[in-house]
This record gives sequence, structure tokens and C-alpha cells, in this order.
Amino acid sequence: MNKPHIVILGAGYGGIMTAVKLQKKLRQHEAKITLVHKYDYHFQTSCLHENAAGTLHQDRSKIKIKDIINRSKINFIIDEVVSIKREEKTIKLKNKELHYDLLVIGLGYEPHTEGIPGLREHAYSITDINSARFVREHMEYNFACYANDIKKDQSRLNIVIGGGGILGVEFAGELINQIPVMCREYDIEKIQVNLYMLEENTSLLPGFDENLVHYAVSSLQSRGVEIIHQAKLKECQEDKVIYEVEGKEQTIPSHTFIWTGGVQANPVFEKAGLSLKNKKIEVDSSMLATKDDSIFVVGDCAYSTDENGEEILPTAKKAIEEATVVAKNISSLLHNKELTSCQPVKQGMLATLGRDDGVARIQNRRVFGWKAAFVKRISDNHYLYQLGGWNLLLKKGNFHLL
Ligand SMILES: Cc1cc2nc3c(=O)[nH]c(=O)nc-3n(C[C@H](O)[C@H](O)[C@H](O)COP(=O)(O)OP(=O)(O)OC[C@H]3O[C@@H](n4cnc5c(N)ncnc54)[C@H](O)[C@@H]3O)c2cc1C
Repeated sequence: MNKPHIVILGAGYGGIMTAVKLQKKLRQHEAKITLVHKYDYHFQTSCLHENAAGTLHQDRSKIKIKDIINRSKINFIIDEVVSIKREEKTIKLKNKELHYDLLVIGLGYEPHTEGIPGLREHAYSITDINSARFVREHMEYNFACYANDIKKDQSRLNIVIGGGGILGVEFAGELINQIPVMCREYDIEKIQVNLYMLEENTSLLPGFDENLVHYAVSSLQSRGVEIIHQAKLKECQEDKVIYEVEGKEQTIPSHTFIWTGGVQANPVFEKAGLSLKNKKIEVDSSMLATKDDSIFVVGDCAYSTDENGEEILPTAKKAIEEATVVAKNISSLLHNKELTSCQPVKQGMLATLGRDDGVARIQNRRVFGWKAAFVKRISDNHYLYQLGGWNLLLKKGNFHLL
């Protein structure tokens, strides 16, 4: 190949880490690298629930892309990917077209809202900086309405979280800490505010050990979260949420329903004719799409399995480790070396329950309380260091001890 063009789509955990690793591995004359992303910043998805609850300002989660890439090696385009035309090896962006020789797809996930009436129209979701800020501002607006209205409308103070997976639980943990702050701000008695969590299964946090789940449930309930198990969501309207428990229909009057119940990979690549499984792109062990050896895939878009053939949970850690292998393999391809296999990610399980509480399983050890929350901070800080060294860590790191 004569100075191949490598195009990276998406600057989430997988895409940005691929770019940062490639800029270290390749010299300027070896390849042209282009990174395409919707915004001029990368954001830490693992902090979005804090941004949405209002416990962490969204600017803390934003990292300017120009501060971490070497612009003499990487051409950065702010644009939206519309489609991938594999036969012509081109990418259609909103504002231009790009030709590629090697492509890295790292477009992440989208909220899965199909099948439940009113979910797409009326539910809020936490997927990026703007949606997280929207959730926070929407809750504040409703508190302000309640404080100002002569005829008090309780639905303004009923907040419902749909889904008791990691995101739902982490958001509930942050929000229940923030509610007293919002109450003070808007002169509302704390007792007036209700925070509900609807979970379809009998248990929260799928994949976590029973005693970790038990701890999480007790922590949330003791702080006032009303968890409703086996609640099947039926419909979401502007001012109410309808669900069913044991065959009986129930309604919670609420203007604020936050859906955390499911994510799916980005639909942009669905029409590209790649081999898909669970709406994700099937990859081989080197992270190449099984149907196309000019396309690598990282993170939530990639359907990767462990040694037992089970799908690996989509996490930031998975995306980062895959990005490291992809950067190495792109360099190997250019230097006619053998490709490396991606080892199945050894995942720990971690969910925070607010700033100083959480549950985790790390190398078969169960961790509870502030220690789990502390591990999350270390892991976020380690990521910042990997991405932008000491400069970025000191600028954006979280150094709260407790
Ligand atoms: C609120 C929340 C909290 C989470 N907490 C944790 C956690 O604590 N720990 C953990 O390990 N995992 C966590 N996850 C999961 C983790 O964030 C994902 O697995 C990870 O972000 C996947 O990385 P990625 O690179 O595949 O995609 P992403 O990080 O989602 O990045 C994809 C990027 O592509 C951009 N993009 C999308 N479409 C287009 C387009 N058409 N054109 C241009 N750009 C586009 C998006 O803006 C996005 O920035 C969390 C997820 C959420 C939603």
C-alpha cells in the first residue's frame, strides 16, 4: 500500500484510544490517519450518570480532542457519519465523503427504545453530554415548576428510572444524593420527592454476585429509592409511566422517566452488509470484521466472545483493550507482520452507588462501600493517564479520597 489512508469513525473510548496508540506507533510518512467524530471533544461515558444527576459538571467529563491528538499525524474532522459504502471503500459524512484503505469502526451504542409505546417520544436517556445535561435541566425545570405552581402537581416531583442494570443503579445512587441539594435550591421539602426504579426481573445488577446485589439494593432502599421488581413497562406518556406487576396495571404520574433499560450498537453500519450478531459486527480474534479484512471494529460495535463463546459485556475496558490490539494490528499490517489476537477481556464488575458507595468484584474479591467507589476513581484516573499522560490526569482527574 502506498501511504494508506486509515479512517477511524467515532472518538469514544475505542476510537480515541486507537488514534492515540496509532500516533505513537506510526511515523508521518507511513500512513495518513483521519479521525471523524460528532463533537470537538471526547467524553467519559462512565461519568455521564453523575453529569445527569448534577453531582459532576459535564465540563469535567469533556476532553478536547485537539489536546490529546498530535495534529501533525492525525487529521481530525468534526462531522457525522451517515453510511459506509464498503464496495467503494468510502464513508459518507453529512458534509463530505472520505475514501479509506483501512477503516476502524468505533461508533458505540444507542439507547434501545423499540417496542414500548411512547418510549422514544417521552423517555429521557443518558447517552452523551447533551442528553445528560438535558436530564439534569429537565429535573430542575420540574422542581422549579412545582415550587412556582399554585396548584401543586406531584408528577413534577416523581422521578422514575426504567431499568436496574449498572447504569440505572449508578444513576439512582447519584441522584438520591443530589435530591436534597435540589430541594434546598427550590424550597421543596425532601419528603415530597419520590424516586422509583422499575426493574423487569426479580433482581438488580444482572451478572453481579448475590451478596453484592443485596448490598446495592439495601443501600438504595435505605436512602429512599423505591425499587419495584418484576415491573413490566407498558407505556410511557408525557406525564405518566404505565407498568404491570403480577398482571395488574399500575401508573406513576411523572414527567421524568429516564430509560436505562437497554442499549444497542450504532445503526449506521447496519446497511453496510457486514456480518452481524445481536446487531453488532462479528469480528475475528484480531478484531477484523469477519466479512471484510479492511475493517477493524472496537468497543460496543464489536461482537466479541470469551473462551466459552459467551458475549463479552460492552464496557469501557473492553473498548480500550480492543483499541490497543487494533492499533498494534494496523501497524503490523503496514509492516507485513503477523496480526495479534485480542485476549478476552478479564472483566471485573463494578457499580457505584453515589460518590462514596459501591459494589465490585475484582479478581474474585468482593468489595463493598467506599472501597468500591475508590476503585472506580482509580480506574477513571488510570484511563486519563493512558490517554493524555500526567497533563490530562492533573487537569481532569478525580482526586477525592472519600
Ligand atoms: C451512562 C453510562 C455509564 C457507563 N458506565 C460505565 C462504567 O462505569 N464502566 C464501564 O466500563 N463502562 C461503562 N459504560 C459502558 C461504556 O461507556 C461503553 O461500553 C463504552 O463507551 C464503549 O466505547 P465505544 O468506543 O465502543 O463507544 P463510545 O464510548 O460510546 O463512543 C462512540 C462515539 O462515537 C460518536 N458517534 C456516534 N455516532 C456517530 C456518528 N454517526 N458520527 C460521528 N460520531 C459518532 C459518539 O458521540 C461517541 O462519542 C457506561 C455507559 C453509559 C451509557
